[in-house]
Amino acid sequence: MSRFLSKEYTSLEEYVPGEQPRDRRYIKLNTNESPYPPSPAVLAAVSAEAAEKLCLYSDPESKDLKGAIASLYGVDRTNVFVSNGSDDILNFAFMAFGKKSGVIFPDITYGFYSVFAALHGLDAKVVPLQEDFTVKVEDYLNTGRMVVLANPNAPTGIALPLSEIERVVASNPDQVVLVDEAYVDFGGESALPLTKKYDNLLVVQTFSKSRSMAGARLGYAFASEAIIKDLEKIKFSTNPYNVNRVTQAAGVAALGEQSYYDENCRRIMETRTRTREALVSLGFEVTDSTANFLFARHEGVSGEEIYRRLKEKGVLVRHFNTPRIVDYNRITVGTPEEMDVMLSALREILKGK
Ligand SMILES: *Cc1c(COP(=O)(O)O)cnc(C)c1O
Repeated sequence: MSRFLSKEYTSLEEYVPGEQPRDRRYIKLNTNESPYPPSPAVLAAVSAEAAEKLCLYSDPESKDLKGAIASLYGVDRTNVFVSNGSDDILNFAFMAFGKKSGVIFPDITYGFYSVFAALHGLDAKVVPLQEDFTVKVEDYLNTGRMVVLANPNAPTGIALPLSEIERVVASNPDQVVLVDEAYVDFGGESALPLTKKYDNLLVVQTFSKSRSMAGARLGYAFASEAIIKDLEKIKFSTNPYNVNRVTQAAGVAALGEQSYYDENCRRIMETRTRTREALVSLGFEVTDSTANFLFARHEGVSGEEIYRRLKEKGVLVRHFNTPRIVDYNRITVGTPEEMDVMLSALREILKGK
């Protein structure tokens, strides 16, 4: 740390992304990326020809991209926001809407929420999930705070029904309720239709998981026109070009091939069911996930040992050194072949336990 850093940042604990090791080839099941490549039109959009135009700035209003999102999802372009990954949108939203009266979110959820709260000096109320890792909806009614819920939640994969999300939105009319739907395409129920009824709801999604574009950095959000304008104000006060030219073109191309991504999601859900059953038969306790990952623990072996020994065998999963979930690992659902390698590695690890 230099002596120049502003005092409010000296104790900031930054977000720790999942490992991206380069020492050997791993079966990478630790950051919830898609095991399938982007669709053919995306590969064509990211061409040498597109690269030639990199001498020009990207469209700061992302008109084509917003138009394509609006038409696929049946909303008006004025209800759509896009940014450099959904993390960027979360950051803007915490900054824009959390300062007035603070934020509230669960203890076990996406790790970035507490980082953004600290970054912006927000008063954060952290509410423990119930024993079975479900959200107790009553904790989020009439809170007087900005509410942030991942649905399905991460790293548990457990989803709240839309009716429960609506209770939260309806009971906090003077607060923004942010629903982070990074994993909604793997069997969840989107709150998008509720944005037409409630002007305090902000629904955030991403191209990183279901659309195989984690490396392109593209997130999008739906809300009332007024909320979108607030987010644009923050974006145009930081970096209006934060969605680069190649990513905008790739995003438009991906939206034109939705059936390709629907099929990938279907395959991932099928592999999830099969893998979950295999884990249960190996003695694992597995949460009921509607995301592209499974969250599992075994009575006989610690979460840390499973993580470490899988890594020795070339399989990378995500282990959180956090109270309450230290015995769990989060395992991304990959291809059926990747799951078979992971499962046979687990069988060896469990031998003699
Ligand atoms: C992966 C993830 C994100 C971040 O997605 P990007 O669009 O890649 O920034 C946001 N929220 C949750 C819950 C996630 O798991």
